[in-house]
Amino acid sequence: MKTYAIATIPGDGIGKEVVPAGRRVLEAVAAASGGFAFEFEDFGWGGDWFRAHGEMMPADGLAALRGKDAILFGSAGDPHIPDHVTLWGLRLKICQGFDQYANVRPTRILPGIDAPLKRCRPEDLDWVIVRENSEGEYAGVGGRAHQGHPIEVATDVSMMTRVGVERILRFAFELARSRPRRLLTVVTKSNAQRHAMVMWDEVAAQVAQDFPEVRWDKELVDAMTARMVNRPASIDTVVATNLHADILSDLAAALAGSLGIAPTANLDPERRYPSMFEPIHGSAFDIMGQGLANPVGTFWSCVMLLEHLGEAAAARRLMQAIETVTATPALHTRDLGGRATTAEVTQAVCRQLAAAAR
Ligand code: NAD
Ligand code: MN
Repeated sequence: MKTYAIATIPGDGIGKEVVPAGRRVLEAVAAASGGFAFEFEDFGWGGDWFRAHGEMMPADGLAALRGKDAILFGSAGDPHIPDHVTLWGLRLKICQGFDQYANVRPTRILPGIDAPLKRCRPEDLDWVIVRENSEGEYAGVGGRAHQGHPIEVATDVSMMTRVGVERILRFAFELARSRPRRLLTVVTKSNAQRHAMVMWDEVAAQVAQDFPEVRWDKELVDAMTARMVNRPASIDTVVATNLHADILSDLAAALAGSLGIAPTANLDPERRYPSMFEPIHGSAFDIMGQGLANPVGTFWSCVMLLEHLGEAAAARRLMQAIETVTATPALHTRDLGGRATTAEVTQAVCRQLAAAAR
């Protein structure tokens, strides 16, 4: 039997609640599917590790993850440690260390979910946002001088390479081609940002020539926010820079009903390194430790993990179980207006998997 080696990194806050829930669901889907199994290794990195060791993860941490088939991640972010320290010390260290340059974020209105747009039917909103995940605004290039003095200066330099831009656009065109509507929107801000964003537009036009089957259009990022709200059905696959797509995908998650539902994959499409799967939400300090976290974003991320491993049937099985559970209002967590706990939702998905297998 095939056994997949999975690293679990709960991290901080509700990551410690939703990642163990995800692991339980992965075990249940393996049992229900047959033919493969998981071998998990848990890594206690994050804020607690920082307090004990002065770093978010060990210096040789990437080596410990290197041989894994995939990583299931929770959240990095601790109320007592600056956010840029936790983010750069753990999540970005893994994303950049493993060159997971394609961040993929599907959004749909799942059955039973009350989404905020009045005129938007569930079938109108079926998007995948592709986020450049290795450079751009989050390249980490920049610095501060004369700290604390009136002449203090600080820069965050957005760095775009032709290689980086071309590979993410190519990935997005390929993804768009694989979806029924074969429609891609390339988001930039090439009116105001007249160097790198203009290069994006140029590279997009070049790459598009290799994908004659894909219809594509361009949108400026500010106009894109309005289009997402006003004309959701005009959108299918979207590609944007690291910062722009970060913001657009939180908006997308909210339009689909809750941040607690949305999944993401940090992919190394060339499969040189393990890819990492995580809910898009953060540590949620306001509800952590209370059993209130919605685990659906993590479960949907597990669907993406299964797809990445090539276990398409198991992925469909899990998605079906998730949708059966979201369709039941009694199984909604508080973010969806319900009263169910993380444990109850987890148990319901596991039961559904077992029942469907019989
Ligand atoms: P957040 O996603 O943690 O929370 C925003 C709001 O959404 C909160 O009210 C929270 O309760 C709610 N929410 C989020 N996920 C939920 C879930 N699964 N179920 C129910 N409600 C949910 O965002 P934030 O407050 O901006 O950030 C908190 C911390 O998390 C910060 O330290 C931030 O840096 C970190 N963060 C980490 C990641 C990551 O590691 N990928 C992503 C975003 C934020
Ligand atoms: Mn974000």
